[in-house]
Amino acid sequence: MIYRIPFQNLAADSRPLRHDITQAIAKVLDSGVYLLGPELAAFEEEFAAYLNADAVVGVSSGLAALKLMLNAYDIGPGDEVIVPGNTYIATWLAISHVGARPVPVDPDFGSRNIDSSLLEAVVTDRTKAVLAVHLYGVPCNMDSLQEFCSRHGLFLFTDAAQSCGAKWDGERSGCLGDASAFSFYPTKNLGALGDAGAVATNDIERAERIRRLRNYGMKDRYHHLEKGDNNKLEELHAAVLRVKLKHLETSLQQRNRLAEVYRQRLSGNLQTALQQIPSQADPAWHILTLTIEERNRVQERLRQEGVQTLVHYPIPPHLTPAYKNDPGNWPKLPLSTTLAKTLISLPLYPSLREEDAVFIVEIINSEARAFEPST
Ligand SMILES: *Cc1c(COP(=O)(O)O)cnc(C)c1O
Repeated sequence: MIYRIPFQNLAADSRPLRHDITQAIAKVLDSGVYLLGPELAAFEEEFAAYLNADAVVGVSSGLAALKLMLNAYDIGPGDEVIVPGNTYIATWLAISHVGARPVPVDPDFGSRNIDSSLLEAVVTDRTKAVLAVHLYGVPCNMDSLQEFCSRHGLFLFTDAAQSCGAKWDGERSGCLGDASAFSFYPTKNLGALGDAGAVATNDIERAERIRRLRNYGMKDRYHHLEKGDNNKLEELHAAVLRVKLKHLETSLQQRNRLAEVYRQRLSGNLQTALQQIPSQADPAWHILTLTIEERNRVQERLRQEGVQTLVHYPIPPHLTPAYKNDPGNWPKLPLSTTLAKTLISLPLYPSLREEDAVFIVEIINSEARAFEPST
């Protein structure tokens, strides 16, 4: 079905940059250097400066970034990593792919982000790290996570796939915790024309290790220090990302302005359906979610009006076929499960017109009721 207001419009988002992007692509074509060249080096430097991080390593996807980040900090078989129960499955897969075990905890319902007060109960002598997710572009409470991790001697990693450009206490999400993984999947706040990702850290030695791990564990040509993978960020993507990075603040302002339209026009009794923002957080809105009663009916109603909505995510990882039969019982995770049933994601992207957001919010105001969790 063709929607009058689609959930994404990547072609329209890129149109203002078309000239610069095609020039960047032609430059790479003519250079004859397609891997590990000057575009990657320049992008890494420019993105590190943007994030205020000491080092950035470009890799082939967000999942590769998560996985190589865990590899570089020696997370592996026998280790446990605490992770939110309500995230995209890639966060869990990275932990599984390095041979470690994801230990899920429920989020705080209002903020949708990991609930620090639940961490103490799941720590064991095998726990090595917390991998927190800044879900939908809203940073998690880094102060309480950092305090917890320092007290237990754990690494604090963040999955910043959805939060490129967000700040906690005035700092960009890239330099928070020990290391952060970014995704440049086309729909993300900073999107490539295909798969791409990066790790940001202030630990120069670990960054060097990730640089080796993305390229077969190679230090100098054909000197392989460890069993690496092939996870390089390609020159073409790096060149396009450099163009997009120059316009990132503008596109974040457009996203944030549209999020404000939704948030302010939503009627008073629906305000509790919105994601709650900690006072130290400056979100970089990636997805605008509501938690509502009769989600499927409201979604169908919007569809009839030509509005495409999605659910991020309809099945929590522990209930997917990929994970549900893993040995050892998963905890109940009641809030992750309830979120999956009540969340709706509304269109939010730079080329979305303000009047379309207004049209959508008016339908929501007349059709939807906030879901009230029963605790
Ligand atoms: C998109 C996303 C990923 C995976 O990124 P890819 O680039 O698609 O591999 C990981 N975690 C979260 C939270 C994401 O939204």
